[in-house]
Amino acid sequence: MKSLSLVVPFYNESRNVERFSDTITPILEDLALREWEVICVDDGSQDDSLARLIALHGRDGRFKIVELSRNFGKEAAMTAGLLEAKGDAVIVMDADLQDPPDLIPEMLTKWRDGADVVLARRVDRSSDGHAKRLTAAWFYRVHNALSKVKIPENVGDFRLMDRAVINALAQLPERQRFMKGLFAWVGFQTETIDYTRPPRLAGETSFSGLALWNLALESITGFSTIPLRIWTYIGFSGACLAALYGIFILVRTLITGTNAPGYPSLFCAVIFFGSVQIMSIGMLGEYIGRIYMEAKQRPLFIKRRVYAE
Ligand code: UDP
Ligand code: MG
Repeated sequence: MKSLSLVVPFYNESRNVERFSDTITPILEDLALREWEVICVDDGSQDDSLARLIALHGRDGRFKIVELSRNFGKEAAMTAGLLEAKGDAVIVMDADLQDPPDLIPEMLTKWRDGADVVLARRVDRSSDGHAKRLTAAWFYRVHNALSKVKIPENVGDFRLMDRAVINALAQLPERQRFMKGLFAWVGFQTETIDYTRPPRLAGETSFSGLALWNLALESITGFSTIPLRIWTYIGFSGACLAALYGIFILVRTLITGTNAPGYPSLFCAVIFFGSVQIMSIGMLGEYIGRIYMEAKQRPLFIKRRVYAE
């Protein structure tokens, strides 16, 4: 008989609180567990999600609330929940029931059969828009080409993890946490189950195009230094080409004498290499920014209150 924790970040999910708890409770009751708890992390919601969560905690103490002092983002909220969870296994899932709770029994079976991590893979993402699916596919391709730590495609944060995996995650000291990358980094024996992603229950997604772009940058700079190194090769190739061209001009001048034209090609070269340099400085800045954020050693999140009695 084992215990299970669910970690669920809530950000402006007022309309989903009751529906989430009503759906999840019978499923957890049926699982023949010694004990279960649901760690609801209120990630600084501006609506009445927190009040509803506190009411829920009043009705059923197995729903525990971690209230963050402001909105820290889903990655930090998940970390807060994972650190609070006590179960032998922990499942991370979204509050909008886009991660179908019906998969929980199957995840538990695989875990009891020996898997440390059970991933849920979206085989059908038609609930996401066309653009989101396309950019997601590009993201996985670029990330996995650049990084040694491969993120499994179409796998979200929804997963079951053994206590050993949670302990490993807790050891990772970084502040900038792209959880999907960190989950992949710690490794462990992994099993996958497939599901179709349903649309959001109520409310709107918090991840706009820009937020997703930032997350993608975060993950690539967090797990790969190839974007830094590539400029050495680009610079070297450019220098070689320039040297060859220089020799060519020299030889031509010796043979045919000098003439003055060439202003447009010069202008193009100046603009081109100027832009390449600015881009490479920008890339450096991306990493220096990350070093700066890590160096400050600020906590990942601040808890305002925990309702766990
Ligand atoms: N979320 C959060 N903090 C944020 C944004 C989102 O805790 O700053 C939570 C949100 O409440 C939900 C989960 O993260 O439980 C996934 O968010 P959403 O459904 O908006 O993302 P999507 O499913 O569209 O990727
Ligand atoms: Mg969602």
